[in-house]
Amino acid sequence: MIEPLALVGIPAEDQALRDEVRAFLQTSLPAVPADVRARSWMGFDADFSRALGRHGWLGLTLPREYGGSERGAFARFVLSEELLNAGAPVGAHWIADRQSGPLIATYGTAAQKALYLPKICRGEAFFCIGMSEPNAGSDLASVRTRAEKTAHGWRLSGQKIWTTQAHRSHYMIALVRTSASTAERHAGLSQFIIDLKLPGITVRPITDLAGDQHFCEVFFDNVELADDALIGTEGSGWQQVTAELAFERSGPERIYSSIVVLNEWIDLLRRRGQVREPARIAAGRLLAQLATLRAMSVAITAKLAAGQSPVTEAALTKDLGTEFEQAIPIVIGDLLDNDADGAAPPAELLRALAYVTHVAPSYSLRGGTREILRGMIARGLGLR
Ligand SMILES: Cc1cc2nc3c(=O)[nH]c(=O)nc-3n(C[C@H](O)[C@H](O)[C@H](O)COP(=O)(O)OP(=O)(O)OC[C@H]3O[C@@H](n4cnc5c(N)ncnc54)[C@H](O)[C@@H]3O)c2cc1C
Repeated sequence: MIEPLALVGIPAEDQALRDEVRAFLQTSLPAVPADVRARSWMGFDADFSRALGRHGWLGLTLPREYGGSERGAFARFVLSEELLNAGAPVGAHWIADRQSGPLIATYGTAAQKALYLPKICRGEAFFCIGMSEPNAGSDLASVRTRAEKTAHGWRLSGQKIWTTQAHRSHYMIALVRTSASTAERHAGLSQFIIDLKLPGITVRPITDLAGDQHFCEVFFDNVELADDALIGTEGSGWQQVTAELAFERSGPERIYSSIVVLNEWIDLLRRRGQVREPARIAAGRLLAQLATLRAMSVAITAKLAAGQSPVTEAALTKDLGTEFEQAIPIVIGDLLDNDADGAAPPAELLRALAYVTHVAPSYSLRGGTREILRGMIARGLGLR
């Protein structure tokens, strides 16, 4: 069974970070249009990421000896929430900060930690995640990209797809097969840190429906990897990836993807003063959902801070959060379509709405599809 999620508050010392981050964002993000802010964690700005690094806000939870701040999960929650709420362009460092850094800190050798973590904390090493492959998306156990042992390391061949920011990243952490056949499912998978400049690697961006290029196909043609490219234990890739996905699913980005549109729309209602009943009801409903989801996300953060692994709760919050994020453009789009409340809505709001409407279907795919999450929830409830 799933334990009830307790309502918890954010500790005062972490809450205090909020004002510092807001003050920084006020000066560093002047007058960015809403449709640019709506891209937020798909937005890529290396200078912005390095500025966060100078404030000690990258690798917030990583050890001090490697340039981190050794703060807890609540501090990271507050920082993430403020960045996403403002629509800051966080895509350059997001994966390194959220997943690759903690993964290297947990499983890396001393040499790997010393090499990668300080660069992650300074915003000088950006990472991408190489899990998905054609014919192995949700079914990661059927990954076919293979690394063969050689005299000096490993030889890598295969293909990854949907790799977010591969074309702008320095490194990929990839899940690949190192032994056995795909028939053995979860056995024989390992993770490698791959320098994307190595010979034999081709990165081809894919243009999405909104016209942006953020994810890619990545091809490996007999790429020679050194011995120390392996991270963690050979053959333990499945267990390592499962732990990594818990970092990916528990963050506030699974609630705030459409938040710029909601903020802009509520601003519009506020400016108009007189708001008709359908818009008032919709605003109330959306804010009630947001408040509930946020309380769930904070409660999960408390579990992470206590060293627990709330996998089922994170899956539940991601599934409900995704529904909320996908509802925002539909509800607001319909209301604006039937808008009898005065002057035309601002073009900036409409552009942000158009962008979010285009990308919203992907919210319930990335980071684990809705069906996969519901399977996990069923397992957590003892129903499978
Ligand atoms: C915006 C975006 C960014 C992404 N970034 C990355 C990235 O950086 N790195 C990366 O590795 N991947 C990334 N992905 C890939 C993403 O994680 C996969 O798309 C996802 O895992 C699903 O895989 P698939 O597309 O191959 O679909 P499939 O796995 O083929 O699934 C197709 C459909 O079948 C359903 N299905 C599959 N298996 C089951 C089952 N056992 N029970 C019930 N239903 C099932 C799925 O839910 C889905 O609806 C990204 C995807 C998107 C949309």
